[in-house]
Amino acid sequence: MTSPDGATPSASSEGSLSNRILLGLLLGAICGVGANLLLVPRFPDAVEAANRWLFVPVGQIFLRMLFMVVIPLVFSSLALGVASLGDLKRLGRVGGRTMLYFLSVTAFSVAIGLVLVNVLRPGEGLPAETREKLLETYRGEAASRMESAGKADFGPSLLVNIVPRNPVAAAANGEMLPVIFFALLFGIGVTKLSAEKNALWMKLLEGLADVTVVIIGMALKLAPFGVFGLIFSVTSRFGFDILRQLLFFVVTVLLGLSLLILGVYPLYLKFRAGVSPVAFLRKMRPVMITAFSTSSSNATLPTTIEVSERDLGVPPQIAGFVLPLGATMNMNGTALFEGITCVFLAQVFGIHLSLGQQLFVIVLAVLTAIGTAGVPGGSIPLLVLVLTSVGVPAEGIAVIIGVDRLLDMARTVPNVIGDVTCAVYVAKKEGFELKI
Ligand code: ASP
Repeated sequence: MTSPDGATPSASSEGSLSNRILLGLLLGAICGVGANLLLVPRFPDAVEAANRWLFVPVGQIFLRMLFMVVIPLVFSSLALGVASLGDLKRLGRVGGRTMLYFLSVTAFSVAIGLVLVNVLRPGEGLPAETREKLLETYRGEAASRMESAGKADFGPSLLVNIVPRNPVAAAANGEMLPVIFFALLFGIGVTKLSAEKNALWMKLLEGLADVTVVIIGMALKLAPFGVFGLIFSVTSRFGFDILRQLLFFVVTVLLGLSLLILGVYPLYLKFRAGVSPVAFLRKMRPVMITAFSTSSSNATLPTTIEVSERDLGVPPQIAGFVLPLGATMNMNGTALFEGITCVFLAQVFGIHLSLGQQLFVIVLAVLTAIGTAGVPGGSIPLLVLVLTSVGVPAEGIAVIIGVDRLLDMARTVPNVIGDVTCAVYVAKKEGFELKI
């Protein structure tokens, strides 16, 4: 992302901003948990009113400011990335590497999840009465979250729907894959123009990307308060009782996600990209904080692009190409979570999933992770699809929905770190020198 003249944030001012965001996150968590334990039992209405009138709106305004620029940002950076890559052969090579990375790392992530859930077997210890109570309590919420699942399927329409009938309508509905398809073709179109027209479109796309940077800068001024509001409203409303009941499941998922962050990506960076994983993870701090507090790969995209280009030295044409695709298609944490949840629920309901069925779960989790929207809770409707495809009752998601808010925050972190790992790897393979 090219920063507009005069609006380029220096690394140190960004550093203090990320410290303030971290402070917002920690304070939000401390105050939220404090309110949950001390105030909610005595003044539940007052805490709910504070959430409804203050903390939720502040958090939502911050989130919306980020979401607002996602479509112009994805369109401009992808089209610009493709147009700057120049020839189609190079585009094919970069695209091929990116897709291969997405598919292989996502499949590997599900496999890690499946090994963990089969070894630890968190579902077998869950008492039947706890299961029934959770099913009863969360039936309504689960049903409303499952509504959109009926619209998705694995038929040929999955492919056809990537090609938009109307790109503006797709953008208006937040359908990212068709928008990406259009942006890719648009970028290729720009490379086919005469030199004069090509330069004009490059300038226009750069200008559009620059404007999004300015708007993101405004949104980020709100970030410490927005993050406080988001985290406070989640923690003060959270049912810590359910956390206790599902602790083994939560620990299994968190263990898998940690293995991705501290094992898979570092090893990939060291051995496939030849860069220092420690330096990489240190520079990832603002990305991790934003992903954790927003639970959204899309809302984190501006930060992901900024950090990759400014701090890691990934060239704009690679970052602009890989990262918007990654925020939409590459969800390693989500895929791992889907794999674990599917087998966990099978264990809870006493359903045996054969090896063949579990291999099928890998395929389904990879496909659904690609289709998952990078928004809070985006994977739940598609998780339903995975469950029903292997004969696990879909209403089973009621069992885990109470802890999903927490796991959503956690799985979004590897979702975005995986994208940046890919951008670093592709940039290295293309022969660029990086800052790590
Ligand atoms: N919240 C996740 C993301 O945006 C998607 C999900 O797993 O629900 O990356």
